[in-house]
This record gives sequence, structure tokens and C-alpha cells, in this order.
Amino acid sequence: TTARNLAILGSTGSIGQSTLEVVRHSGGRLRVVALSAHSNTEQLCQQALEFRPRWVIPTDPAAAKKCDWSALNGVSEVVCATDGMQQVVQHADVDVVVAAIVGSAGLAGTWAALEAGKTVALANKETLVMAGPLVMPLAASRNAKILPIDSEHSAVFQALAAGRREDLRRIVLTASGGPFRKLTKQQMSQVTVEQALAHPTWRMGPKITVDSATMMNKALEIIEARWLFDLPPDQIEVMVHPQSVVHSLVEFNDGSVLAQLSPPDMKLPIQYALTWPERLPSPARKVDWRTSWQLEFEPPDEDRFPALPLGREVAKVGGTAGAVLNAANEAAVARFLRGEMPFLQIVPVCRAVIDHHSYDPSPTLSQLMQLDTWAREEVQRWIG
Ligand code: NDP
Ligand code: MG
Repeated sequence: TTARNLAILGSTGSIGQSTLEVVRHSGGRLRVVALSAHSNTEQLCQQALEFRPRWVIPTDPAAAKKCDWSALNGVSEVVCATDGMQQVVQHADVDVVVAAIVGSAGLAGTWAALEAGKTVALANKETLVMAGPLVMPLAASRNAKILPIDSEHSAVFQALAAGRREDLRRIVLTASGGPFRKLTKQQMSQVTVEQALAHPTWRMGPKITVDSATMMNKALEIIEARWLFDLPPDQIEVMVHPQSVVHSLVEFNDGSVLAQLSPPDMKLPIQYALTWPERLPSPARKVDWRTSWQLEFEPPDEDRFPALPLGREVAKVGGTAGAVLNAANEAAVARFLRGEMPFLQIVPVCRAVIDHHSYDPSPTLSQLMQLDTWAREEVQRWIG
């Protein structure tokens, strides 16, 4: 088998760094041909010196200007054009694009990659939440594959292989429940940024860590699953599973339920997306079969975590609702992280912005981009 050439978008983030660890461990089966990051130019430069990609793409012009790139002379071409990322991912030398940018900024690179028929290893769930109704048909029309990195979707993808699609009854997404799983609403009204960033089972970037605390992450994942697997939302369940070992489940018509298990470590779903359909030895943590352990499951409390019913509603109506939810949530989480908004306001603000937008069941891409901007401004106005 030949090596696969990767373009890693968001290489300096949590998923980006884990992807590079998978590459280090791949014995030359995975090769980095492009690295892209935003503000962290120093780390991007270090990564380029180690992996020697053909292209390095810093996307924040101000940070790129300040950085001294001379260490990369004769190693990598530093691409600073505004559409540099789109140009590079479409190049014939790129086989797989790892979409590991956080937020709606991840859409452009994924879109360009799919347009060129590339395989996308998708961590950036926001792409499907925003533009699922346009992204899935684009991928189909270009014969481009989207392979999930998100651990729940990777688990479903793996378990689905055991049965026929027409025999599928439902999927069950597992959720850790986040750091506030056991708090009352009263206690949640007091939580700090620091507490929201202390996730019990996963080390991730700040935005998705706050999403896990509100359980908006699971709401986004319901929508992601709706598009990725083309499933009606009433066939997508959520169960809280605090150990984060069962990454999701698939139930077939005869009642048989199949699960995918592994200790919480993103290197496993990342590697699976990059080597699929092969399974190679991985640097991910493994289950220790010599110690006793417990796995717990409980239904989520939708009263304390109203993001879940909101996500389900958005998944049902589709159209423009996903783009509005995603943008409102990004804006609200950014405000919470800056200490400008209480934790318990994040979800109600998202609901209010969705309720006030002019819904369209079949929007264009430019309509979704405009709504992305509008929803962020609306959050601003709402908070005053
Ligand atoms: P991080 O915050 O750790 O990393 C984000 C990456 O995106 C960084 O490389 C950052 O560059 C880059 N970036 C940020 N803003 C922009 C922008 N405007 N334009 C271009 N690049 C930008 O996030 P995570 O790695 O945790 O998450 C990445 C994605 O993967 C998210 O969509 C998340 O939902 C998803 N995901 C993450 C999981 C995890 O375990 N972390 C699990 C499942 C899904 P820089 O640092 O240089 O500014
Ligand atoms: Mg997930």
C-alpha cells in the first residue's frame, strides 16, 4: 500500500496535534504535505521543520506578518494568499484533508476539498451543522468521501459496518455529561469559566470544552449525525455515559445493539479516518483487561440541559436553522469565555436568535454565510 498525503487544517490545535502524533507513529504510511494554522505561527513553524510539508499556510495575516519564516527556506513554501488554503487542498498531491479548524472558519477548506473530490477526515462538526444540506450533496456529486473523526460518529460508522443499512433501527450517541453532569440549575448559575474548562474525560480546545459543559456539543452532534448518516432525528438517541469508553451504539431491527469501545483518546478515531478501511497498530490508549471496571448509562436531563431539545428541533427543521444555531453558539461561547456572559445564558440566547431568524428550508451557501454574520450580531444585540 502506498502512503497517503495529508493536508492538516488546524494543525496547532488539540485534534491537529493528535493527528501529527498519529503520523509520527505511522511508519511512513501517512505523509504531511500541507499544514495550516491561524495565530500560533511559532508552533506551525516548528511542526513544519519536523514534518517538512510542501506547503505551510498561516491564515491570520497579522500573525503571519510578524513571524520570521526564514527557517523554512528550502523546506516549505509559505502560502499567504487569502484563498491559499482552498488552493492547496485542491492540489493533485493532496489525498486526504484533515478538517481540524474550530468553528465556522472550518467550512471553506472542507468545501474546497470536497469540490476537488478529496477525502475529508472531518473533525470540524460545525461544517455539517451549518451547511449539512449543501455539503452532503456536494460530496456526493464529486464522489468525495467524508470520514468522521468525531468519536461518536466514528463509533457509529464502525458499528454500522456490521449490518445492512435498511435494518438499522436507531443510533445512540453517548455523552460524558461534562463537568456539570450532577449540578442543579441553581449551582450551574454560579459556574466559572475555569470550571467549565475542566472536562472530566477529554482534553480538547476551549470552544468544544464549553460545548460539552452545556451539552450543546451533543446537540451539534445530533445535527452532524443527521446529515452524515442521512438519518431522521427521531432515530438518533442520546445517553449519558460518564466514562467515555463506549463512544456510541447502533441498534438494528432485531434489537441487537453494537457498540464501539476504547479509552477516551482521539488518536483512535483520527487514525481510523486516515487509514480506513485498514486498521493499523495505533498510539492510542488501550483497554486494560486485567482490572475490573464499571460502565454506566443514564438518560440525559433535558431540563438542566436544554441544548438537547434545541438541537433536536434544529435537526428536524434543517434548512437555515443549523447555521444560525452554530453561529449564535460560537458567539455566545466566546462571550462566556471572556467573562461577559453567564454560563446559563448560552443556550437561551441561541434559542432566541433561532426563533427570530427568517427561516428558509433550502438556502444557498451565501445565504448561510450571511446568516452566520447576522446571528453573531444578534447575540451582541441580545446581550446589549
Ligand atoms: P483547538 O481550539 O484546539 O484548535 C483549533 C485549530 O483551529 C487551531 O489550529 C487554530 O489555529 C485553528 N483556527 C482557529 N481559528 C481559525 C480561523 N479563523 N481560521 C483558520 N484556523 C483557525 O480546537 P480542537 O482541536 O479541540 O477542535 C477542532 C475541531 O474538532 C472543532 O470543530 C471541534 O468541535 C472538533 N472536535 C474536537 C475534538 C477534540 O477532542 N478536541 C473531538 C471531536 C471534535 P491557532 O491555534 O494557530 O490559532
Ligand atoms: Mg464527539
